[in-house]
Amino acid sequence: MTQILPADKAGVTQAATLLRAGAVVAFGTETVYGLGADATNAEAVAAIFHAKQRPRLNPLICHYGSARQAFEQVVADARALRAAAAFWPGPLTLVLPRRPQCSVALLTGAGLDTLAVRVPRHPVALALLQAVDRPIAAPSANRSGQVSPTSARHVMDGLAGRIAAVLDSGPCEVGIESTVLDLSGTTPVLLRPGGITPEALEACLGPIGPAAVSGAAPRSPGLMLSHYAPRLPVRLNADAVADDEAVLAFGPPLPGGCCRFQLSASGDSIEAAARLFEGLRRLDADGARLGASRIAVMSIPEAGLGLAINDRLQRAAAPRTG
Ligand code: AMP
Ligand code: MG
Repeated sequence: MTQILPADKAGVTQAATLLRAGAVVAFGTETVYGLGADATNAEAVAAIFHAKQRPRLNPLICHYGSARQAFEQVVADARALRAAAAFWPGPLTLVLPRRPQCSVALLTGAGLDTLAVRVPRHPVALALLQAVDRPIAAPSANRSGQVSPTSARHVMDGLAGRIAAVLDSGPCEVGIESTVLDLSGTTPVLLRPGGITPEALEACLGPIGPAAVSGAAPRSPGLMLSHYAPRLPVRLNADAVADDEAVLAFGPPLPGGCCRFQLSASGDSIEAAARLFEGLRRLDADGARLGASRIAVMSIPEAGLGLAINDRLQRAAAPRTG
């Protein structure tokens, strides 16, 4: 059963309590309805992907109640401070380097060293974020492949029964997603057009790089939204393990290997998704220290989040360019 909570004080408090307990709760912003979970809780974030049936573990935007809270977790340079002063709270997302002490789960940012952060301006969303007092990861609150919802009714049409609650704050005012601007490199790059126009951004920041070409052109790792991949080569669907391999295990582990990280002893795909990026990082570090020549990944069934996990592992195992 999915509860529809009114956007009054009691409803906001209840939504905040659910979020702090690790539940998935949809809430309205000025752009579209977001599907929120505690961004510091990897299992809660994995449950977002499960509810949406997203076939990919892509990075999610992290929402904050204030710029100060956001900039405690990512590094803001002069450009980021200027953009935040001009457009926050509002429909602008900034991609910035994570700070070492950043409490956001690696899954939220799909293992990348950068994090997408935003302070929305919808008063109910702000009240919720302030009540939760934790960063909230939130993609749009629709099933994968369907259009973004701009009312609580739309959310229920797609996700009733799959999430704990929806906080009904009425129809969304902007109706399109936030603009995503990457400020992690020397030139600002528009990754996704949205609620703030490129003209408004250029008036604030000067020249901005071209909008990301979607699909066609392959991007080399390290450029823009490349995916996270460990330094060690990755071998998939291992059914036996050599002594010089670091093992990413799923279910009863294979014998052998120089070190091992268990994604889920019980074979639970949500737990495994929650631990995936931590596991790859750990094996990369431990493996390098122990002289491993690669990471061997046990096979993971495609059920539940298995499909999304395998998509990410296939990218990590693909031949490297650049
Ligand atoms: P959605 O989940 O539909 O709200 O989309 C989030 C958008 O933010 C997508 O376009 C992502 O590619 C982008 N995004 C989130 N985090 C990052 C990041 N660390 N680097 C680059 N793009 C990001
Ligand atoms: Mg979406």
